[in-house]
Amino acid sequence: MNKYENYFLMKAEDTIDYIKEKVDFFEEGANLEAKEIGDGNLNYVFKVKDVDSGKSIIIKQAGEVTRISEDMKLSVDRGRIEASVLTLQGSLAPGIVPKVYLYDDIMCTIIMEDMVDHEMMRPFLMNFKTYENFAEDTSTFLANTLISTSDIVMNHKEKKELVRDYINPDLCEISEDLVYTEPFNDMNNRNNVFPPIKDFVEKELYSDEKLHLEVAKLKFDFMNNAQSLIHGDLHTGSVFINKEHMYIFDPEFAFYGPMGYDIGNVIANMFFAWCHADAVLEDTDERKEPFKTWVITQIKDLVDLFIEKYNKIYDEKVNDEMAKVPGFKEYYLSTILADTAGVAGLESIRRIVGMANVIDITSIEDEAKRARAEKIVITLGKKYILDRHNFKSGQDYVDAINEVVNQF
Ligand code: ADP
Ligand code: MG
Repeated sequence: MNKYENYFLMKAEDTIDYIKEKVDFFEEGANLEAKEIGDGNLNYVFKVKDVDSGKSIIIKQAGEVTRISEDMKLSVDRGRIEASVLTLQGSLAPGIVPKVYLYDDIMCTIIMEDMVDHEMMRPFLMNFKTYENFAEDTSTFLANTLISTSDIVMNHKEKKELVRDYINPDLCEISEDLVYTEPFNDMNNRNNVFPPIKDFVEKELYSDEKLHLEVAKLKFDFMNNAQSLIHGDLHTGSVFINKEHMYIFDPEFAFYGPMGYDIGNVIANMFFAWCHADAVLEDTDERKEPFKTWVITQIKDLVDLFIEKYNKIYDEKVNDEMAKVPGFKEYYLSTILADTAGVAGLESIRRIVGMANVIDITSIEDEAKRARAEKIVITLGKKYILDRHNFKSGQDYVDAINEVVNQF
């Protein structure tokens, strides 16, 4: 008899029996302990560990509110999307995504690999720690997951089935509002603007109609360009890392959208780490220059390695006859790179003035230094958006960063 035929919200102690019932992961009679490790308000994350061998596993369960009829569908569907995207991404980019062992649609749980000995990348970077293969691994993840799920490679009917499977209207709406609308007009009065830059934001963001037009074009691209199965929230809080390895997880915003969305998100979030180091470390601190140089190198290499891997996968796997027409590969890449720069700009701006800010910047205590960092990011973000068709290589990002930083 299946003991778990009806949903209930588990406590840590319940998960020990549950895990034994559901997966064949621990030895018979293992001495297991369980604790809740999550910090979210909708999902509960539990870790079950064999005290003797140290082996462990993660259970992520959607929270109690999901039992309320209407919300139930939404949350169950989010779990389904997350589990199935992790599985697909894991097959396309092995080792970079935690393994999913089981998705249980009754208990609304994902049972997955424990990302042992890794930490969230945002605090990792705020402690000026580095990982040498960041650009290499991230570009592999991006190229493999994005290009392999696009019409370049896939059978067009099968791809359309995936477009349907991964329709994610509620989470897309959040991005449409928080990334593509409110940072430019504060229409819902929930932007968080640091008071010392209030006038700057009024002038540079809320009053710039030329900018608004370009953002509108990007917003309609986000909503209508069902190009690839994107992660949808690839910031440094969706990465677990140490000095030897990294994982990308939490793809609950995944849907069929523009490839540049994921690539641009990574670029913007890496630069926040640069701003943090630039503002909080003394010039005499020997960690400062190496860390900043590492960040810039990762941004540059990420773009260049993505281009290299795009070309390789394209040549090896292109399936569509018309996509083999000379010149199309280069044309298509140029649209991806323009989207990338546009999104790098949007993510830069929304994390400074929007509703969801980043601690890399908000933790800068010196007011003048924080204001300078915010102005740099906004100015750079505008440049990425307005000049997006001219960002064609990693060096173009380095040049833009240097140019803007020197203005302030
Ligand atoms: P939510 O979607 O509720 O934000 P996350 O997937 O971001 O949940 O997980 C919340 C926290 O739980 C993470 O920040 C991490 O600390 C921990 N966590 C989640 N999944 C794992 C995992 N597979 N291995 C280790 N820790 C995890
Ligand atoms: Mg999350």
